[in-house]
This record gives sequence, structure tokens and C-alpha cells, in this order.
Amino acid sequence: MTNKDLADLLLPNVSSDVEYYEKKYPKRNLDKKAIVTRFAPSPTGFVHMGSLFASFVERKAAKDTNGVFYLRIEDTDQKRKVENGVSGIINDLHNFDIDIDEGMISETEEIGAYGPYIQSKRKEIYQTYVKHLIEQGLAYPCFCSHEQIEETRQIQEKRKQRIGYYGRYAKCRRLTMDEIAEKVKNGEPYIIRFKSPGSFDNKIKVHDLIRGDIEFPENDIDDVIMKSDGLPTYHFAHVIDDHLMHTTHVIRGDEWVSSLPKHIQMFKMMGFEPPKYAHLSPIMKEEDGKKRKLSKRKDPEAAVSFYHEKGIPVAAVKLYLMTIANTNFEQWYDANKDKKLDDFKFDFKKVSASGALFDVDKLYNISKNYISYLKAEEVYDSLLEWANDYDGEFAKLLVKYKQYCINVFNIEREQKKPRKDYACYSMIKSQIWYMFDELYDNVEHYEFQKISDPEQISQILDLYINKYYSEDDDKETWFSKMKELASDLGYAKEVKEYKNNPDAYKGHVGDISMVLRVALTSKSTTPDLYEIMKLLGSKRVIQRYNKFIKGNLS
Ligand code: GLU
Repeated sequence: MTNKDLADLLLPNVSSDVEYYEKKYPKRNLDKKAIVTRFAPSPTGFVHMGSLFASFVERKAAKDTNGVFYLRIEDTDQKRKVENGVSGIINDLHNFDIDIDEGMISETEEIGAYGPYIQSKRKEIYQTYVKHLIEQGLAYPCFCSHEQIEETRQIQEKRKQRIGYYGRYAKCRRLTMDEIAEKVKNGEPYIIRFKSPGSFDNKIKVHDLIRGDIEFPENDIDDVIMKSDGLPTYHFAHVIDDHLMHTTHVIRGDEWVSSLPKHIQMFKMMGFEPPKYAHLSPIMKEEDGKKRKLSKRKDPEAAVSFYHEKGIPVAAVKLYLMTIANTNFEQWYDANKDKKLDDFKFDFKKVSASGALFDVDKLYNISKNYISYLKAEEVYDSLLEWANDYDGEFAKLLVKYKQYCINVFNIEREQKKPRKDYACYSMIKSQIWYMFDELYDNVEHYEFQKISDPEQISQILDLYINKYYSEDDDKETWFSKMKELASDLGYAKEVKEYKNNPDAYKGHVGDISMVLRVALTSKSTTPDLYEIMKLLGSKRVIQRYNKFIKGNLS
């Protein structure tokens, strides 16, 4: 029996015409430097921070080089499949504005000329290549049962030898054609293994775009390429896919680094040119002064839903992802405030090999900065979108008082140094609630500072509304009136004046304006008080002050 006969015996209804596929998926017509890369998750229904980060980097690398970024679903492990597992992933990518050029666009649909982009639909392709390998004597059937494999493992453990199907332990590699034919005739189940040409004593060097050259012992394990259900293993499938889809760069998590010798060997055995590899380190988190991996279990920010719930703008998340992707980005962005993320070129050499640190506070800072440069209308639209999902009551107020809200968001915005107080949309309500009577009416706690005696406060408010307050005053007039008010009551008109001569005054104008601020909003820190008064309008200002006075006199 020849290898060809063996191939026909094992896969009788499968063609071994690999040329058919080589022609069907021709080389891509792209620039030499163009990066073709992919995001290749199992259909688990969601993306977590680590894989969102990887797909962000993949998208960026492809975009920067006018390449292709595609989504391939790796579902050869039927156990890991979940219902609607593909749509969940597509949704998560979509929510972060990570668009694909090719690949799955729904549970069943796809775009692109190099599909199918879901491995379970590529069974015939894999089997064709498996048959081709058998014909060349590079793959063979293995009839070892789970029990036998386990037995071998125990022996290897006892002998303190490497675990795996290699060398003298690769029993089925030595079966004769007749023995194989006999077993197949008897209906013995089998899988297909590839015949590793490697020797563990040989050292090979593999280049990783992030880690540089890595030295490994050559692979000598005859790994499984086709399982008993006729589906390929991940290792084999990805080699075929990346070859036929003309992937130039495999960018993925570093849990795959140790498989590199095997993967590269498979590419070479198949006669394919291996892609370039870049293995991303896991995102780290600092806790009690120590670095550890960002954990799906412990860290809420590891779930991508976190960003949606908090209302952190997608653009800010992307800026942050770029910050942790390339160590030189932050400096570039600081120096090029007017430029866009697209203007920055991703560089594999600037990726931290030891794992970037994830810092939520830094993300909030980036987000704060980002939101501060938006137009008030944009803040309104995004906030409303967020509130529609997470705070229906607030959404109603936003709709009811649209223009008023926009005016509120416009305080100290659209100026050279805009006010930076909204870190995310879920935090805005807690910063502006006092602008709505509906939310302010039941206020109980006032954050008074230096002047906290209710009687004294009432006296200040009374004097202010009766003598100094006029809705029509421009800011300058208002400000000079505040000084007059301070002076009337024995407070210095200027802070400096007070500091130079503290015994001559009860305090300074800032103490007085603090009273006016807190009695109006209950808060000791707010945006510009003059602007707030303007927006609330005299009726409400007077009402709020009178309410305070009355409340404290009774
Ligand atoms: N399906 C593999 C995973 O989910 C993909 C690994 C790769 O990108 O090659 O990790």
C-alpha cells in the first residue's frame, strides 16, 4: 500500500487537490508593506479587555499600512461554543468602533473573498490538506486510546521525561501499512497526527516583532491535526487559514509563544511561508505595589461592558488603548493635540514586552480631557444615549430641558483651557444635579466651609439679594459687587489684602462667594458661580436663598 492508498483509505470521499484552494485564494493585491492580520477568537459570546486590546492593535496595524483586518471565528472546539457566540463578539467590536474589512458580520453572514471565515465551515479545506499530507507521508493515523495516552503520560512523568507523543512514545508512527489497514478495517477509531521532522536537541531561533529573537528547542511532538470528528485542531486549522487568507502578521496573546516552534514547523512542512509573529503580553494591574495580570474575576475593568456602563467615550478608551499599546504615544499626543489617533503610526518596537500597566485613573484622566474638548451638544447627545440605557429618570430631565442642559454643559467650555470635570457620562449627574429643581428640592446637606453659622449665612444671603443681586449685571459688575458685599461685612475685597493683614478682616471675598455658592447649589466646588446664577435665573436664585433663610429662621 502506498501513501496515496493510505490517504484514500482514511479519507475516501475527500479530494487532495490543494492546488484548487491555492488558486481559489490568490495572493492579495496589496502594497508590499501592507499588514494583513486577524482577530481569531472562539465564539464565546464576548470580548474581554485583553482581546479587545489585541483587536485594537490588529486593526490599527492594518489600517496604518493600508492592509486588511479580518475576523475569523475559531470554533473547532465544539465544547467552547455558546449560543449567539459570534454576534456577541461582533457587537463588542462594533461598540468600540473596531471595524473589520473582512470576516463574520453576523452569526451566519460574512464579507470578503477569502472565506468561509468560520472554521466549522472549512472542514473540507482542512481535510484536503490533511489528505495531501498523508499522501506525502507527512501525516499518519493514530489509534491510541485516551487510556493509552494517559498511560504514556504517567510513564513519562515517572521517568521525568517530557510529556507528549514523540520519539519512541509515538507508537502509531511505526505501524506498518498492513497494520493500519487492518485496524481501519476493524473500525478502530483514529485521529491524524503530523510526522514532526524535528529533533528536541536542535535549537531554533524565532523572531517575534515585540520580543525579538527567541530560542527554542525544535518541536519533535507529533501533534494531532485532525480529531476523530473530522475537525482539525486549532494548531493545524490556523496554519491553513493564515496561509490561505494570506495573513502577513499574527498578532495574539503571549499564551501562544510556547506553541511557536510547532506552528512554524507546520507552516514549513506544508511548504507555506510562515507569517510574522507578534505576541502581546497580558495587560497588568498594580495592586499593593505589585504587578499582576488584569483579572476577569477580580477587576471590573477587565469586562468591556464596564466602559459602556460607566459611559466612558469610546474615543477615550481608544486613546487609552493606544497609550498602553505604544510607549511613545502619550508624548506624541501631548505634542500633537490637534491630531487624530489615525495620524499616529503604530510601531511593534514600541510595545512593552513586559506587559503594559492598566490604570483606570489614567483612563479617566484621558476621558476627562477628551470630554472637555467636545461641543456642549455632543456632550448632551452622548449623555442622553448613556442615560437612556442606564438612568431613565435622568434621561427624562435631559429631554425636558434640552437647551438648558446644553447651556449647563457649555459653562467654561469652548475656551483655551476648558473645564475638565466630567470623567465619564455616568458621573455627570452627580456634578450637575443641583441645576434641576426636581433633584435639588430635597437637599439636606450643605457643604459650607469657613462660614458655617446659619445666621451669619442668612445675613449674607439677605444682603446679597436685597442690595447687590441684579440678574442683568455683566460678569465684571457682578464681581465688583461681590467685593462690595464682602467689604460691607468686614471681609477683604481681595485675598491678597487679607493675607497681608489678616487681623484687619473677618476673612476675604472668597469666603463670601463660597457662602453664595453653597447656599445655591449645596456644593463647595462647582463651575463658575456667575454662570450658574445666569442659567438658574433670578427667580430660582432668590427662591433658593429665601428657602435657606426661612429654613434657618424657623
Ligand atoms: N483561537 C485562538 C484563541 O482564541 C486564536 C489564537 C491566534 O490568534 O492564533 O486564542
